[in-house]
Amino acid sequence: MSSTREKSEVWLYFSPHQNYKTKCDICKNEFSYHGSTSTLKYHLIHRHKIIDVLIRRGNAYRETHQYENSIIDFNKALKFKHDHIDALIGRGKTYDMKDKYEEAYADFNKVLEIEPDQEHALSKKKEIERKMAKSHKKSIKYFKTTLDNCPNNYPNDYIINLEKVVNSIPQRIETQRRANKVLDNYRKKNFTYII
Ligand SMILES: [Zn+2]
Repeated sequence: MSSTREKSEVWLYFSPHQNYKTKCDICKNEFSYHGSTSTLKYHLIHRHKIIDVLIRRGNAYRETHQYENSIIDFNKALKFKHDHIDALIGRGKTYDMKDKYEEAYADFNKVLEIEPDQEHALSKKKEIERKMAKSHKKSIKYFKTTLDNCPNNYPNDYIINLEKVVNSIPQRIETQRRANKVLDNYRKKNFTYII
């Protein structure tokens, strides 16, 4: 416990403790601190409704297209309660808006592990599955077209550039895997051709 104590989420809202004392940044009340953050956490959750506030702000940030700030707030809320349904749904929706389908998928899946009948998560999960399939198909089609149009006199440059593109696809593990497979096949074919 002691190694994680200093990293507790409460220190986002309390001043660094000194002489067994710390102050709440929100209401400026002073608290005694003897190594356990549970009183401080209780204060933030019950006096300041910190989780609800963070979720509301996270949703508001998403609605105003401030996706990075939205993710930050949901992450903070989830530090207080790692399986909070509304925080997971909220973060999933923001990831979806950022086209980060794998992260969104993971969040909706987590909700369904906790509440298998959660309607919102069920419909969002299906929607994300459709988007992921469409996005993979589009990326792979792009790679195949690029490879088909590859001029024979400088195929190595093409491969190097394509490898860079494949490896820069952010957070799309499945697409990367499939794109690499396409590249592998191409390399094999090209190798045969050179021999
Ligand atoms: Zn306070």
